[in-house]
Amino acid sequence: MHELIIVGAGPAGMTAAVYASRKKINTLLLSKDLGGQPLWTAGIENYMGYQFIEGPELMQKFKEQVKQFPVEQKIGQGVVALSPIDGGFAIRTDKDESYQAKAVIIASGKRSRQLNVPGEDKLKGRGVTYCATCDGPLFAGDKVAVIGGGNSALEAADDMVKIAEHVYLVSATPLTGDQILIDKLKDASNLITIFLEHEVVAIEGLSRVEGIRIRDSKSGEERKIDVGAVFVEIGLIPNSEFAKGITKLNGLDEIEVNCACETGVAGLFAAGDVTSVPEKQIVVAAGEGAKAALGAHRYLQRL
Ligand SMILES: Cc1cc2nc3c(=O)[nH]c(=O)nc-3n(C[C@H](O)[C@H](O)[C@H](O)COP(=O)(O)OP(=O)(O)OC[C@H]3O[C@@H](n4cnc5c(N)ncnc54)[C@H](O)[C@@H]3O)c2cc1C
Repeated sequence: MHELIIVGAGPAGMTAAVYASRKKINTLLLSKDLGGQPLWTAGIENYMGYQFIEGPELMQKFKEQVKQFPVEQKIGQGVVALSPIDGGFAIRTDKDESYQAKAVIIASGKRSRQLNVPGEDKLKGRGVTYCATCDGPLFAGDKVAVIGGGNSALEAADDMVKIAEHVYLVSATPLTGDQILIDKLKDASNLITIFLEHEVVAIEGLSRVEGIRIRDSKSGEERKIDVGAVFVEIGLIPNSEFAKGITKLNGLDEIEVNCACETGVAGLFAAGDVTSVPEKQIVVAAGEGAKAALGAHRYLQRL
């Protein structure tokens, strides 16, 4: 049995790993990937110490820092079940492996929300993408659609306007992102067509995306737009499924924690975007990861 298992190796999980290891806690870092959401981020201007750094580069620095310490790592598997057992917790992964620990920190972050319309699943990776930063350059010179009206969608549209033949921005609501981003798109109005209060009803194409069908929410009128790619940027959902029934989730399915990253279940801590803590940022997630590890250390000492 490990003393501590950290689930997730984004900014929160990797920071927790460094803090736990420096306290000489026998720690297992268990994650689907090493880096989390910053791997999808082209430029970060608000992580202190760097005026500008690319997301993958910042995560490479986190990885190198974790490597300085004796943290056991199992990367490439996702936790599917978490259960309390005598003296701690048992964890099962999608590779059917089982692990046990006296304490657990959940730092599993968030993932992209899907549209759930016909054609989306079939054409995933064939023109349907959830990361304009990662996949945008593949569609340079194409007509593309960006779905959503918040900051992620506006940033994606702004990126694609620079390289695509034309961008169609489709939002189910009025635009809700920052005014500075909205103004940028207005400046590029000959390269972008914006459909507000329109729903995507289907993504069409045989083996690749060929177009989308959208419906005007007010009039019900449908139209088809020919595009070669669809960037779905409609927000994120917490990776908290495996914690359901074990600890309390809020209305957004985020794990409820107090200001010490405690969940209310003894020995179970949570940190970063997967939690109810407001403001989803790298610096916040890293700070919460540090707090969770120090909290776990106090808990283990008391045992
Ligand atoms: C496009 C984009 C741009 C952004 N730009 C900025 C920015 O400029 N500045 C800023 O401060 N923030 C930015 N953010 C937000 C920032 O990336 C997040 O707040 C931060 O990454 C949260 O860190 P985290 O460790 O809590 O979660 P995540 O980064 O989501 O990491 C979660 C980790 O858990 C793993 N995981 C998930 N499910 C499981 C499971 N079941 N089992 C095991 N492992 C699992 C994942 O593989 C990953 O390693 C941006 C986010 C996005 C999407």
